[in-house]
Amino acid sequence: MKLFIFCVITSYIILPNLYYRKFSKKIIKRIPSKEKVVALTFDDGPDPRYTLELLNVLKKNNVKCTFFVLAESAQKYPNIIKQIQKDGHYIGLHSLKHMNAIFRPPNKTKEDFSKSVRIMNELNLKIRFFRPPWGIFNLVTFHCAKTNNLKVVLWSIHAMDWSRLVSEDYIKNKLINKVRPGDIILLHDGRGAKACPLKTINALKNVLPKLKQDGYKFVMINEISSNASKVNFLNCTQ
Ligand SMILES: [Zn+2]
Repeated sequence: MKLFIFCVITSYIILPNLYYRKFSKKIIKRIPSKEKVVALTFDDGPDPRYTLELLNVLKKNNVKCTFFVLAESAQKYPNIIKQIQKDGHYIGLHSLKHMNAIFRPPNKTKEDFSKSVRIMNELNLKIRFFRPPWGIFNLVTFHCAKTNNLKVVLWSIHAMDWSRLVSEDYIKNKLINKVRPGDIILLHDGRGAKACPLKTINALKNVLPKLKQDGYKFVMINEISSNASKVNFLNCTQ
């Protein structure tokens, strides 16, 4: 029995995570460019407590980014989704309701994808990119994404902005000092410990002008490709 459980955990959880997070070339983890371009991405929204305020900060700095939204939250707050689109940002999927893939059997994983895509279609959103919650896969996650014509996106840098132990200054310093050309930056506009996204939003008020001053341009996930020669910087914001 113990051997059976070990085999199930290894094949359903451990090996898929090792493969897709570390080795698979089909997962987008960086922008294939040595130029000073970065992709700012926000997970876990939309959230009326934070997303609109974040949109104001992005607009003020003329920065376009990607929101990986939870389908159920998008359904609940369609006006925020409309505002994200109106401001020119790009929207990807971050699952139905942030369930951990480790605990989702294959049929439920498949169901979560189909429900999410249906909700997004109802909102007139044609979704092409998916980021799994916590970047965690099970054996069928990638297959389900592929079946729904979704490319999977992870990240190359984060600032632990979901943690209550992390300060606004930490987020600010991490992003200003550690961001490198080609980074996909993971941040959050929802969930996390108590009011955590407010620290992120406040940090960005300093980080965005500084990165722009350092010569960084911002691209959205739909503007990058696994082929460096296809990277389209025409619409990027400076
Ligand atoms: Zn998340």
